[in-house]
Amino acid sequence: MTSRFRYPKNWNEIALKVKQEANWCCQTCGLKCIEPGQSTKGINSSEIAKHRLSVHHQNYTPEDNRPQNLIALCAACHLAKHQRRRGSITPDQLELKLI
Ligand SMILES: [Zn+2]
Ligand SMILES: [Zn+2]
Repeated sequence: MTSRFRYPKNWNEIALKVKQEANWCCQTCGLKCIEPGQSTKGINSSEIAKHRLSVHHQNYTPEDNRPQNLIALCAACHLAKHQRRRGSITPDQLELKLI
C-alpha cells in the first residue's frame, strides 16, 4: 500500500549511474535521451517527455537495486513494460505519470 516509499534513499544516485552507464540511450530501442544539462531549447514538451530516460526494475521489485535488475529505458519502452503488467501499480508507474 505504501509502495511509494519503497525506493532507497540513494535511489537518485543509483538511477543516475544506470543512465550514465547506458550512455543516456534506451537499452531496448537505443533512443538517445536527453542528458541533464543538455539544452532543450526548441524541443517541445512532448518530445522532451519521449526522450526522458528512466530506470526500470526488470523484476518489478523496487527494493532490488542490483545492477543486473536495473535497465535504462525511454518513456515509450518503459510504458510498454508496465502495460504488460496492468493491475500491479509499482512506484515507477507513479513516476511515469509525473513525466
Ligand atoms: Zn526505448
Ligand atoms: Zn519500470
